[in-house]
Amino acid sequence: IARAHLERIEAVEPSVHAFLHVDGARALEAAAAVDAKRGRGEALGPLAGVPLALKDVLTMTGAPTTCGSRILQGWHPPYNATVTQRLLDADLVILGKTNLDEFAMGSSTENSAYGPTHNPWDLDRIPGGSGGGSAAALAAFEAPLSIGTDTGGSIRQPASVTGTVGVKPTYGGTSRYGLVALASSLDQPGPCARTVLDAALLHQVIAGHDPRDSTSIDAPVPDVVSAARSGDVAGMRIGVVKELSGEGYAPGVEQRFHESVQLLSSLGAEIVEVSCPHFVYALPAYYLILPSEASSNLAKFDAMRFGLRVGDDGRLDAEQVMGATRQAGFGPEVKRRIIIGTYALSSGYYDAYYGQAQKVRTLISRDFEAAFAQTDVLISPSTPTTAFRLGEKVDDPLAMYMNDLCTIPSNLAGNASASFPVGLAPQDGLPVGLQVMAPPLADDRLYRVGAALE
Ligand code: GLN
Repeated sequence: IARAHLERIEAVEPSVHAFLHVDGARALEAAAAVDAKRGRGEALGPLAGVPLALKDVLTMTGAPTTCGSRILQGWHPPYNATVTQRLLDADLVILGKTNLDEFAMGSSTENSAYGPTHNPWDLDRIPGGSGGGSAAALAAFEAPLSIGTDTGGSIRQPASVTGTVGVKPTYGGTSRYGLVALASSLDQPGPCARTVLDAALLHQVIAGHDPRDSTSIDAPVPDVVSAARSGDVAGMRIGVVKELSGEGYAPGVEQRFHESVQLLSSLGAEIVEVSCPHFVYALPAYYLILPSEASSNLAKFDAMRFGLRVGDDGRLDAEQVMGATRQAGFGPEVKRRIIIGTYALSSGYYDAYYGQAQKVRTLISRDFEAAFAQTDVLISPSTPTTAFRLGEKVDDPLAMYMNDLCTIPSNLAGNASASFPVGLAPQDGLPVGLQVMAPPLADDRLYRVGAALE
């Protein structure tokens, strides 16, 4: 199986470019080790020997971690992320590291310093972002499983536009140890797959308490696998979020959304309309909170400790080397967000921007609490449109940010959320995703609904 996927990678990578790093020898060795264990009659987990692609923002020893940035070029992390370690312990076969927008900032993978990933459905279109590589690898059959990370939609939006399954677990449900931080209060690693059950099996492997992550939740992992096998939604109360199901969506997206609502209703779910009045402020609040946290997290890339160092020829002092390295090492979107973030956090503006955004965040959490008091899950389209063309939005950051309209509220509140494929849009034949949102630690409900739709 590993060999077949490596052959597939070799065949399609020149046109898809889902990977930044592939290590075939290592993958075949890992696969052989599984065969040997099986031969000795040793116990193996349900995903032993299954190949997987890892987003290049999670550390793994023996391979570079770049985060899609020049500034980390040449950095080999000295330790494994907890997610990586759990995959290795469960005998999955890691094929390589996948492409992403630089430091996971973006919705199209066009912000990668190493060139964009192409959507396997139409190579002229974006695969979503930031985890476009992890989603494209699945859609192009280069890997049956992958890992993404979701700060504002980077698992769900790529899943939506590539017709795959992507799950953002409850914040604290999967460990962030060894995940290079974008915005620490929002980031969450999660499973990506082509089927709901595959995603659940992977979720089971990576989730659970980690004492190395201070925000990790010490509670049992919800039974996502049973939920994915069941798909029974009879009697479930499913809320349609008024603010996320109005106008402005591409026609095919709206059509498939309404059909999904009908399907769930015909399967016995009770459909309720709910209002979350503060969701309209989620996007502006996110684009203050995220740059604020990112500007602080990225301060450690100072040319001294990691990767790239520019101008170290004895003529510049340490501060100038730092400046020259950050100037050369960070791309335009990263610089934009560092500037916005440091501004929003600066004395005199802190209350007006960062403080205000945090208050909005609380209101959004309260909207969710009120909505979940009447429902078991909430649904909306995952993204406003199907995959757009490469280059279409690169010069318009605001248009790019609009992609995250539906996905951001769940990150701000920290609840569980997923995107499931619900068919193709008639106007362009491209995949459409349905977003399902569940209360914290009720991740199993996502899989129940996903399995019903499959
Ligand atoms: N599009 C979002 C952003 O650019 C996605 C971030 C993410 O989830 N990593 O911030």
